[in-house]
Amino acid sequence: MNQDDSNDKTYSLLDIEKKLQDAMDAIESIKKGRSISIGGESASKKYDELKKQFDQKSADYTKLDKQFQQLTQEVLELRQEKMMFEKFTTLTEDEKSEMEKTRDEMKQKYETERQTALEQEQEKMFMAKSLEVETKEKEKAKTKYYKAIIISVLTIVVVTGGYSLLFAELVGQQYSVPTQPTPGAYTIQNLRGDTIDTYLSWRLVDGTPLVINILNADKFDDDVIETVKKTILSDEVLEIDNSLLHKGPKGTTSSLYVGWQGAMTEAAKTETLLYIPVNFDIISSKTGEGDITIELSKNSNADGYAGWTNSIADASQNQILKSRITIFDVDNLSLTALETVTRHELGHALGLAHSTDPEDLMYPIIETNFPYTSECDIDAIVLLYDGGETSQVICEN
Ligand SMILES: [Zn+2]
Repeated sequence: MNQDDSNDKTYSLLDIEKKLQDAMDAIESIKKGRSISIGGESASKKYDELKKQFDQKSADYTKLDKQFQQLTQEVLELRQEKMMFEKFTTLTEDEKSEMEKTRDEMKQKYETERQTALEQEQEKMFMAKSLEVETKEKEKAKTKYYKAIIISVLTIVVVTGGYSLLFAELVGQQYSVPTQPTPGAYTIQNLRGDTIDTYLSWRLVDGTPLVINILNADKFDDDVIETVKKTILSDEVLEIDNSLLHKGPKGTTSSLYVGWQGAMTEAAKTETLLYIPVNFDIISSKTGEGDITIELSKNSNADGYAGWTNSIADASQNQILKSRITIFDVDNLSLTALETVTRHELGHALGLAHSTDPEDLMYPIIETNFPYTSECDIDAIVLLYDGGETSQVICEN
């Protein structure tokens, strides 16, 4: 059906309407005629007949009108449908065209994103693995540093070439270091009255250097060896405010020594019975020669100790004959920890036992943030090399 068809219908309806009008006119004329008609009965009959025809026509008209309305509605609906269909078809074409145009682009984008995601995932896994390893190593180091044992002294008799010497072997001078030591940040050290046990010393001829042999130095990086050397040869003195050390009022200071050469030189300013070693010769030989040997080990100590010193001494004369230091698991020690460990062990090698002050360098477990040789340690050295036989030195504030 189309517009013209419906127009045809409209014209038909107009015709019907015209006919109806004609019929109405006829009725009117009949009515008029009746009034003047002589044979009334006949006229009335004619009227009824016409009336019947009119009703019939009227009914037809109503019916047709209804059909027309219905058809018009159908046409409108169909038109709407057609329009929608056309619009839909157009939109689909557009979308299809758009999709075709961007399909490759989107595919490529997806591939790129997928690749990036894969790479990120791999990176994440790698980082997680690295973190895991790092965490394990840190935990391992932490555990190691916090263990310590107290010194035990064994006396042994050694017979060599017909001479009988009494040796004291100092064993187990192990200690641990704190995880926080950062000597660069000179912060807190509480030096309250403390005691250092000491009774063994070196008895060198005046002016003779103490030879220190760093074993297997060639297996470690230069910074490791330099760190060890610093604890021996440095003359650096740190002036730390006593208020930070809880040792005195603010504005007064105490001296802390980075290297033992500096500390021993300070000690030697006081006249003593025995010669205080102030010259240190550092060598690196595999033969184990030297007064003190420092073995840098890649192995960790079974008991978790970071450092260990073993001295052989002529106990009858309180004389150290040889001292052997071992630093364990050097590859996993920070340079700071290595420095602190070495400095502490050298204190033993020079004759100092442990301190009773928890915050002193020579305490079995190093807890201080100032793990340097203190004036108290120097006083102990002075007393020791002045022939003191007491094993305790009380450090006054
Ligand atoms: Zn120790």
